[in-house]
Amino acid sequence: MPNVTTTSAPRLIALLLDEHDDTQQLVRHAEDVLDMAHPYAREVHALCVTRTPNPELAERLQRLPLGAIVCIVAADLREPVQAVDFTRVLQRALEMHAMDATDCVCAPAGSLGEEVVARLAAGFDGCAFGRVQHLSFEAGGAQADRTVFGGRSTVRVRAASGPWFAALRTSRSAAALAAPVQQAKPAALEWREASSGPHDDAEIVTVPGDAARMPVETAHVVVSGGRGMQGSEGFALLAQLAARFDAALGGSLPAVDAGWVPVTHQVGQSGKFVSPSVYLAVGISGTPQHLAGVSATTRIVAINNDADADIFRVADVGIVADWDTFIPALIARVDACRSARAHTS
Ligand SMILES: Cc1cc2nc3c(=O)[nH]c(=O)nc-3n(C[C@H](O)[C@H](O)[C@H](O)COP(=O)(O)OP(=O)(O)OC[C@H]3O[C@@H](n4cnc5c(N)ncnc54)[C@H](O)[C@@H]3O)c2cc1C
Repeated sequence: MPNVTTTSAPRLIALLLDEHDDTQQLVRHAEDVLDMAHPYAREVHALCVTRTPNPELAERLQRLPLGAIVCIVAADLREPVQAVDFTRVLQRALEMHAMDATDCVCAPAGSLGEEVVARLAAGFDGCAFGRVQHLSFEAGGAQADRTVFGGRSTVRVRAASGPWFAALRTSRSAAALAAPVQQAKPAALEWREASSGPHDDAEIVTVPGDAARMPVETAHVVVSGGRGMQGSEGFALLAQLAARFDAALGGSLPAVDAGWVPVTHQVGQSGKFVSPSVYLAVGISGTPQHLAGVSATTRIVAINNDADADIFRVADVGIVADWDTFIPALIARVDACRSARAHTS
C-alpha cells in the first residue's frame, strides 16, 4: 500500500482521463473541479492521462487557475479503454505526487471514472465517493452529495479521513460553461511518459451489434422498453423508432433479463442513470427502481395500456395505448411528416 502523509494544506486533483479523445470534455471537467473547489480556496492540480500528446489540452488547461498540470502520455493504453490501465498509470503518478491524507482526487463520473476512483481508493486505503454532484470539506472531513431516485432526493455521505476519491458528475449550467475562469500567468506544466503495463494476457473483445449502439448515458433522446414489450420483435420496432429520432435504446431490468436489450442499456437503480431531454417509456410500469435511473429534469413520455400505471404519475405526456398499434402508427406518422417536409423544401 502506498504511503500517505498528512499536511494541513489539502489539494484537489482533477483527473483527466482521455477516454473519447474529447478535449472539450476534459477541460470542462477541470473547470468543474475548480468551480467546486472555489469556496474552500484549495489548490487544484490537473493530472491528465492521454494515449498521444495533446498540446491543445495542455494549452487550454494552462489558461485555468490551476496550481500545476501534469500531462502523462501512455502510448500503450489499450483499446477499448480499460480502467485498470489508467489506474496503474495514475497510482504511480499519485505516489510521486506525495499523496496527502487530506487530498481529494476527482475523476469525471461515468463507468471509467467510477471504476478508476474505486480502484485508487482501494490502493491508497482511502474513501471512494461515486456519482457525486457536489463535494464540500470541513474540519470533520469531506462530504459528498449525490442525488437518488432520479434527482428527487439527495443523499449526503460523510467520510472523516482521506484521501478521498470522487467520481464527479458535471452539473454546471450552460452559462457557466460559456464563461470559464482564466488566469494571467500560465500554470506550471510538466510532460511525462509512462507505461500502463504490465498487461495481462486476457484478450479484450469488442462485441458488435446492439452493445455497440449509442450509449444511453449521453443520448439526448432515449426510447426505452419494458416487460410490456413482450419480446425482441417489440424491441426491433423500438429500435426503428429510436433511429428516426437519433435516440438511444434503453430497457428496464425485466427486458434486460429476458435478453431483449443489452445490460449496458439498462436504465435504473442497478443500471444506467440517464438525463436526456426526452425519455420515451414504452410498456414500463414506472417502479421507483426504474425511475431512479431517469433524471428529474427529463421529460417523460409514457405509452402504456394500463391507465392506472404508475408511470403516468411522473410522465409529462401519457398515452394509454397498446404499443403494437401505437408505435407502428407513430413511425408511419413521423415518416409521412418528414417526406411532406422534404417535398415542400
Ligand atoms: C435492488 C433492485 C434493483 C432494481 N434495479 C432495477 C433497474 O435498474 N431498472 C429497472 O427497470 N428495474 C429494476 N428493478 C426491478 C423493478 O423493481 C421492477 O421489477 C421493474 O422496473 C419492472 O419493469 P417493467 O416496468 O419493465 O415491468 P412491469 O412492472 O411488469 O411493467 C410492464 C408494463 O407494461 C405494460 N404493458 C403490458 N402490455 C402492454 C402493451 N401491449 N402496450 C403497452 N403497455 C403494456 C403494463 O401495463 C405494465 O405497466 C430492481 C429491483 C430491485 C429489487
